[in-house]
Amino acid sequence: MILTREEIIAMLSLEGNGMHGLFERSQKVKHETVGRKTYLRGLVEISNNCRKNCLYCGIRRENRTPVRYELDTASILDAVRFAYDSGYGSVVLQAGENTSPGFINKIEDVIRKIVCLGENRPAITLSLGEQSFETYRRWREAGADRYLLRIETSNVGLYRKIHPRDDLHRYHTRLDALHALRRLDYQVGTGVMIGLPFQTVEDLADDLLFMQKIDIDMCGMGPYIEHPETPLIQYADELKPLKDRFLMTLKMIAVLRLLMPDINIAATTALQAIDPLGREKALEIGANVMMPNITPGHVRSNYKLYQNKPCTDDAPEECNDCAIQRIGLSGDEVMLGEHGNPAHYVNRK
Ligand code: SAH
Ligand code: SF4
Repeated sequence: MILTREEIIAMLSLEGNGMHGLFERSQKVKHETVGRKTYLRGLVEISNNCRKNCLYCGIRRENRTPVRYELDTASILDAVRFAYDSGYGSVVLQAGENTSPGFINKIEDVIRKIVCLGENRPAITLSLGEQSFETYRRWREAGADRYLLRIETSNVGLYRKIHPRDDLHRYHTRLDALHALRRLDYQVGTGVMIGLPFQTVEDLADDLLFMQKIDIDMCGMGPYIEHPETPLIQYADELKPLKDRFLMTLKMIAVLRLLMPDINIAATTALQAIDPLGREKALEIGANVMMPNITPGHVRSNYKLYQNKPCTDDAPEECNDCAIQRIGLSGDEVMLGEHGNPAHYVNRK
């Protein structure tokens, strides 16, 4: 659907009955296009080592609190096996940004081993930050299917404010990475944080138009949640209340469902950090993907990107059972044993 910037701004500004009208519309579009269905992706937080220093993130390089860890290949594959046995459509391997040859080789090896699980294996989704074209190519050739790389904000000025000003944190490098992934025929996902300090409703409207313009297949966006041990905490007083960031995230999901009816949209964990039923609400009004955390329990508490991150004491089995129950609450069917490729990707092929 085509919406002007002004129309999007007006929709994102809706409250009360107007907002609920928007949610009814986006729910209808979801049901008519991607169906009353939710797909599961098992999230494995494979390492909190990161070379970057994003000003908002709890595992940034300079934060000394998290105990740094990297799961070994066998533990990653155990988690993948859990996802496989549970019928998840995909596994998401996520980590801080690491461009060392050892790490790149290890990921390539893990991908090849997952491919060996056979045709019914879960689709392989990577969320490993900015890498060189050659690295993305090697991982794609090894068998990776999808890549998630949030642009964080499409406003270059705002991007600069929430990152250190050095060569490691350049907006255009991130944008180039998204284009590279697309050229390599990954299913590409991006997203933004909602409720960042200095962010305006105009910025958020531009974020949605950005996603439409670069023609993404998948989106994962969630509220910004401050972390006390990060530089951005100095602007905590300027932030909108958590409830507003939560509702704005739902409105962003709803408008994106209207703009891009056939993409996959995730109900992200950060929503749950604000409202225990946050992800279910997102599924009700337009999202169609949920990502249960299947990281082994002993390292979870060291992957705290933001404060009050939920389920850091739980085991994969608990997250699985909880996800399935919760999707039931949203009225969707839980789709097991299917990859759930974004219809958008299939349609544009
Ligand atoms: N290092 C990779 C993947 C891990 S970070 C990358 O940066 O792409 C995954 C996502 O966590 C980031 O894209 C960011 O949007 C989100 N994130 C980090 N800190 C956050 C915070 N304080 N509140 C909400 N989301 C946050
Ligand atoms: Fe590292 Fe990603 Fe956190 Fe930035 S957002 S510090 S790249 S883990």
